Amino acid sequence: MEPFMPQLVYVEPQALEYPLGRELLEKFEKMNIEIRETTSHNQIRNLPGDNELQKYRVAKSTLVVGIRRTLKFDTSKPSAEYAIPLATGCMGHCHYCYLQTTLGSKPYIRTYVNLEDIFDQAQKYMDERAPEITRFEAACTSDIVGLDHLTHSLKKTIEFIGQTDLGRLRFVTKYHHVDHLLDAKHNGKTRFRFSVNSRYVIKNFEPATSSFDERLEAAKKVAHAGYPLGFIVAPIYMHDDWQEGYYELFERLSRSLEGVNIPDLTFELIQHRFTKPAKKVIEQRYPKTKLDLDESKRKYKWGRYGIGKYVYKTEEAADLEGTMRQYISQFFPNATIQYFT
Ligand code: SF4
Repeated sequence: MEPFMPQLVYVEPQALEYPLGRELLEKFEKMNIEIRETTSHNQIRNLPGDNELQKYRVAKSTLVVGIRRTLKFDTSKPSAEYAIPLATGCMGHCHYCYLQTTLGSKPYIRTYVNLEDIFDQAQKYMDERAPEITRFEAACTSDIVGLDHLTHSLKKTIEFIGQTDLGRLRFVTKYHHVDHLLDAKHNGKTRFRFSVNSRYVIKNFEPATSSFDERLEAAKKVAHAGYPLGFIVAPIYMHDDWQEGYYELFERLSRSLEGVNIPDLTFELIQHRFTKPAKKVIEQRYPKTKLDLDESKRKYKWGRYGIGKYVYKTEEAADLEGTMRQYISQFFPNATIQYFT
């Protein structure tokens, strides 16, 4: 899997008031990538493409260099107190991705160059919560690692949090382009997580992401660099022979990590869920998907903003959770399972 390279770049004029904005403009000019100016990402309406699907594909490889105006961070339960906004959107094409709905008609990727403002705000949140630890999640609205070889804003965030007393950073990725992050001064305050899944899920639902083996190679590098390491198994999905599929996942994981010193390994477990609006969008954008989005097989769970989710029925969810817990205790007896949701 080659590192992401945008086909089209938009630059908001205000972004050029920041060093990172100017640096990125220069970088993309040298690469001869088409660059357009836009007063705001909201004005982007004329993406190339003859139909909605083509425009969607182009959007997924379009990068907007802009500034983050809203500096109120969202909450990010259960994995952290706050979502730290470094980017929005992702180059991946995971059929189940919740960005399908949260980004709606704006699936292009936005990177925010006003890092100093974002760090100032993060510092305020830490001060408010002192002496409690404050955890920030950097992958709520993007796969930030997949983009960071271009911007290094994640690297700067790792180093910013590394020099705080009470800050912790975490993010999850499906990309293996981690080399530039290995020498970041993280001071053990960043938990690097990789998203893993059964072969079936990765093959059928995760196009345009790094392979399982590439993710594992990257996980080993990250562990050697002294980062706290974790895995997120998400979405846990009941495909045919799912028990064997997930057993194989943990078996391969443990084989590949043999001999690697991981003092505090964590797992987070998230069952597959979807909303009605997401179903509609997924069916338009990935019309041939094998993703089973039949509401009648699921349990409805009320959610925020009145949009409920369809999760597995209680017994099936318990089966998924019990099975995952059993495999993890078999292959990783010292690991912590942080939650199943
Ligand atoms: Fe969504 Fe993550 Fe896939 Fe990107 S890699 S499309 S953020 S699930």
